[in-house]
Amino acid sequence: MKVLVVNCGSSSLKYQLFDMTDETVLAKGLVERIGMDGSILTHKPTDKDKVELKANISDHSIAIKMVLDALADAKHGVIRDMKEIGAVGHRVVHGGEKFSDSVLITPEVLKGIEECSEMAPLHNPPNLLGVAACNKLMPGTPQVAVFDTAFHQTMPKRAFLYGIPYEAYEKYGIRRYGFHGTSHKYVSQRAAALMGQPLEDLRIVTCHLGNGASLAAIKNGKSIDTSMGFTPLEGLVMGTRSGALDPAIIPFLMKKEGFSADQMDNYLNKKSGVLGISGVSSDFRDIENAAGDGNERAGLALQIFVYKVRKYIGSYVAALGGVDAIVFTAGLGENSPTERASICEGLEFLGTRIDPAKNNIRGKEQEISVDGAKVKIFTIPTNEELVIARDTKTIVGA
Ligand code: ADP
Repeated sequence: MKVLVVNCGSSSLKYQLFDMTDETVLAKGLVERIGMDGSILTHKPTDKDKVELKANISDHSIAIKMVLDALADAKHGVIRDMKEIGAVGHRVVHGGEKFSDSVLITPEVLKGIEECSEMAPLHNPPNLLGVAACNKLMPGTPQVAVFDTAFHQTMPKRAFLYGIPYEAYEKYGIRRYGFHGTSHKYVSQRAAALMGQPLEDLRIVTCHLGNGASLAAIKNGKSIDTSMGFTPLEGLVMGTRSGALDPAIIPFLMKKEGFSADQMDNYLNKKSGVLGISGVSSDFRDIENAAGDGNERAGLALQIFVYKVRKYIGSYVAALGGVDAIVFTAGLGENSPTERASICEGLEFLGTRIDPAKNNIRGKEQEISVDGAKVKIFTIPTNEELVIARDTKTIVGA
């Protein structure tokens, strides 16, 4: 079966076409600037050259049409007809408490996703646009929703409830949901495979460190805690997001700066994090370079980021009652030996240490702890698209 994986943002759309007989990627690509000037599709068939197609891509439906045309194109296509696509898997950010697993999309499921939109106003609506576009262009092709929140639905109440009146949970669903679930699930499964041990016997801390960043505590294959919360704003200091802070800062700043609720939200989501601290960039590569050139605030941003990740690791080891493996993944986790080493500095008391020679890699699946370490440290490139394709195949096959 060929499965198309779609990840729709408000102005972008990423896709990958998998041949699930051997889980190979036939083509992947990206549509950018949907609904804006200069919209473009970049299509990369695995065995052919990349093509860039500029067009007026005014909505998600046109974007999906262009993707399907590119996939079936005589020159740079990888299939003869879009009817070869057996199913579509969609990344959906928020599944609330309704969805604790991936599901076949039905009218009822669509309603459920819509109901979760209030909690993810920037993410769920574009995800739904992608589903609607596929429904229109590929009627009859089954579609599956894979949720970022689903993996964390195993968290116990003591981990997901906040210290505010219980009615806020009952009335508005205010609780920790957690995100990046597909990634945390995938890398924990890979770590168990690399250790040659059943996931059900392991305690793992997974660190997804990209532009958005979160940690998860995974016990016997189940998420028992994670650092993102009601929204992806909580937890670590991220590229542009503040992470956790004293909630009293929010009304204080609103009064002092005269911010509206939306302005405050924008300040915490877009202007904070390592960008806000360093004043340099949200990209860790730029910050590492600036710090290397002696920029003090860039150095400080890195120290704050690293310290927070290390503190979360410590707290999750306590939550798990010990730890067997720590995993680094996503942009920074996979690619920055320096930050991995800094984060693990001082974790020797856990019975682990990074091996500098093994750590000197980027984008590869590898154990990076010293030989014989009681607690293994890994870098594992995440593959959320593959998980989506696998879940889609399983659900449609059933
Ligand atoms: P997201 O999916 O959340 O947008 P990614 O997982 O793609 O993010 O991670 C992107 C981030 O990873 C970049 O902003 C950059 O900070 C970081 N990154 C990528 N490559 C490197 C590298 N070689 N060294 C340091 N940081 C890197």
